[in-house]
Amino acid sequence: MLTVVWAYRRTGKFAFHVLTGALETDPRTAAVPIEFANGVDAVVAAITNALAAPGARVLVGWSFYSPDAIEMTAELQAVKARIDDARVLHVCGGVHASAEPEATLRAGWDLVAIGEGERLVRDLVLCVQHGGDARAVPGVAALVDGVLRKNGRAERIALDDFPPFGPAHGRYGPIEITRGCIYACRFCQTPYFAGASFRHRSVANVREWARWLVGRGFRDFRFLTPTSLSYGTFAPEPDLAAVEALLAGVREDIGPDRKLWFGTFPSEVRPEHCSDASLRLLKRWVSNRALILGGQSGSDRVLASSARGHDSACIERAVALCVEHGFVPHVDFLLGLPGEEPDDVEATLALMDRLVTKGAKVHGHTFLPLPGTPFRKAPAGALSAEVRRRLRNLASKGQLYGQWEQQEVTAQAMVEVRSRQRRGGDSGGSDSSALNVR
Ligand code: SF4
Repeated sequence: MLTVVWAYRRTGKFAFHVLTGALETDPRTAAVPIEFANGVDAVVAAITNALAAPGARVLVGWSFYSPDAIEMTAELQAVKARIDDARVLHVCGGVHASAEPEATLRAGWDLVAIGEGERLVRDLVLCVQHGGDARAVPGVAALVDGVLRKNGRAERIALDDFPPFGPAHGRYGPIEITRGCIYACRFCQTPYFAGASFRHRSVANVREWARWLVGRGFRDFRFLTPTSLSYGTFAPEPDLAAVEALLAGVREDIGPDRKLWFGTFPSEVRPEHCSDASLRLLKRWVSNRALILGGQSGSDRVLASSARGHDSACIERAVALCVEHGFVPHVDFLLGLPGEEPDDVEATLALMDRLVTKGAKVHGHTFLPLPGTPFRKAPAGALSAEVRRRLRNLASKGQLYGQWEQQEVTAQAMVEVRSRQRRGGDSGGSDSSALNVR
């Protein structure tokens, strides 16, 4: 009998909910026991319990973001040090593993699942249940005689074909309304993992899940999308009629008193999508009065080299419009982007200063050279003492928040691991063929 154990951590939990939903909704895999095990002790306990059954096999699923790779590798090694059993298969999927299959396998995982997980997890579970060779499953990569062998990539899915979470297991999350992104920002993993085009969940499907959540007593409704106002479009121009159909429809289903969050955590709005028309529409339907805007830099040169598709004046216009329409804009900035010169840094800090005087808040990040992106080989984002001082000054006034200090340390650690992998003979670089850049 096969048991699935998710190595379930806070940062990647929604991915496991989606995979759980994929298994639940296929009659061939719906009865497979699934355990959610948070931390080494819990994973070891779940595996031990599962192995007690006669004929047991255990598939331990791991998924995490690149900044967590070092910590999660340590967890895998701790689990394997306590349970070394051929009946247990450790499989790693997600954005990081898809970009770095060889490094992930050499770190100790038995298999890597490349690409989107919904179909792949079903195929993998069915294969292991029937005693097949998991390495033959489409999208699975393995080391064979020490050499990376890939078996293509998992098929991209239509969002309507799968639930947005694992309802039968009571594992919920935001409803994913759009996957993939046409804006190939050079620091971002999304388009390189999920494709440089939009796939949208239909309004009818979103509403069906919203009604389902209403029936379970939910009062807050959030959506997952790379760019909120791109819902329903396949081009850079927003389709506001599609956005309104979505928001008005969900509002009808959830009623006037429940909260409808859109353009805020866990998604954001591109600055050039802010207009009188789009902000009036949001004001009419959404509950949030904060909007998260992607700004990233105050330097037009850096914005262009990062392929952001807008300039710094556009960020200022968006902030002014948001404030005019009664929203508090929270603007994301990435410090330490590749190629930044002192003038670029000054332009970013000066823009932050101007925006906060207009009523914005700044969400500060430090650039991470993420696997799978065009900037994967860039140096770690680093901040000068003067930049740190000015950021702390903004933070002390409540005008800036974020993990920028911790991310500077993480970026440095990621680059050190990359260097060690190179010295050890593993390229450690991303494998863009695995990511299906379009
Ligand atoms: S940063 Fe946002 S807009 Fe740019 S590619 Fe990533 S998800 Fe798309």
